[in-house]
Amino acid sequence: MPESAEDYFARIAAAQDADGRIPLDPEGVLAWDVFPFEAEGLRLKPGPVPGPERVRSGEDPATCQCAQPPARGPREPFGVVWEDEHFLVKAPPPSGAPLMLSVVTREHLDVPEMDADLAAAFGRLHVALVASVEELPSVGRCHVMRIGDGGAHAHWWFLARPVNLPLVLGSFMVDWDDFLPPLPLDVWAENAAFVAQRLHERLGGRAVTALT
Ligand SMILES: [Zn+2]
Repeated sequence: MPESAEDYFARIAAAQDADGRIPLDPEGVLAWDVFPFEAEGLRLKPGPVPGPERVRSGEDPATCQCAQPPARGPREPFGVVWEDEHFLVKAPPPSGAPLMLSVVTREHLDVPEMDADLAAAFGRLHVALVASVEELPSVGRCHVMRIGDGGAHAHWWFLARPVNLPLVLGSFMVDWDDFLPPLPLDVWAENAAFVAQRLHERLGGRAVTALT
C-alpha cells in the first residue's frame, strides 16, 4: 500500500528543527559545483507544513486561457509560433534563456486525460521541438518540463539552456532563466521564428513566423 500523505508529512515534521526549518546539509546540494548560490548564510524558510492544494487557473474551462483566441506570432506575449490539429506552441515574453516555448493542447484537458493518439502526437512534437531548439547556435540543450501547478490546461515548458556556460547546468537552469539578463525582444522573436520554421520542416503543421 503506498504511503499516505499524513505519514509523509510526519517524516518532514520530524526533520524540522526548533524554528520549524529543515537544516541544510553542507555536503548535499550546497556542495555541487553547479549550485548557483553561495552557501554561507543560506537557510530554508520555516516549513513546509500541510495545507490545501492551490486552486489553479483554468480549472473552469469557461475561464481558461483556451476560451479566448490566442495571440499570434513570436513578438506577442504567448503568441502562437506553430500549430497543428492537436497542439499550439507559444512563445512567452523574453527571459534569460536563449528561448523558452510552451506547448498546450488545443482541447481543454489535463495530461492524465490525454488519449493514446494525442499522447503519440505529443511524443512526436516533443522530439521534433527538442531537436529544433538544439539547432539554435546559442543553445546547449533543450530542457523539458511538465509542472502543472499554475494552470489546469495541459502544458509543457521547453527551456533552452545556453551553450558553454559550465555554471549554468541541469535543473538550476530554471533559476538561471530568472537571473540571467532577459533577451531583447527582437533576438527572442528571431530564435522563436527559427525554431517554428524548423518544426514545420520536421513535422508539418503551420509556422507563424512573421517578425513584424
Ligand atoms: Zn483550457
